[in-house]
Amino acid sequence: MIILFKDFNFTKYMMAEELWNTILSIRHKTPIDVIQLETAMMEYLKQLETEKHHKAAGYSAQHPRFLYASTSLPPKKELKHLTTHYWARYKQVQRLDRLIKERREAIQKVCTHDWEKDWSDRGHRSHYECKLCGKYR
Ligand SMILES: [Zn+2]
Repeated sequence: MIILFKDFNFTKYMMAEELWNTILSIRHKTPIDVIQLETAMMEYLKQLETEKHHKAAGYSAQHPRFLYASTSLPPKKELKHLTTHYWARYKQVQRLDRLIKERREAIQKVCTHDWEKDWSDRGHRSHYECKLCGKYR
């Protein structure tokens, strides 16, 4: 795994044209080829400012992959690297959670509701769930 980590940084200093040629040259479909192809494509897209264009079009950020196995990085750097991945994803999960709550509220506000008794509930009171939006009462 340490070798893989080093190998897959091979695109870091390549220019767009060189990256494109690398992408075109990967013709085999072994697992290593596929990983190298993705690495080259991601770097190529990065150079084309894919994040900036996607953000402007309303898309979420795309997070790079990280290795589950330990790397050849010094321990403190490896932990910092993993922590950076963690916080980027955590921030996105929180934003996604807020988005889901906002959308649910907006959808339930305009729904015409088609209530259905929830038979799974064994409590004292009857509960109903909307078949259209999932609202519970
Ligand atoms: Zn509803």
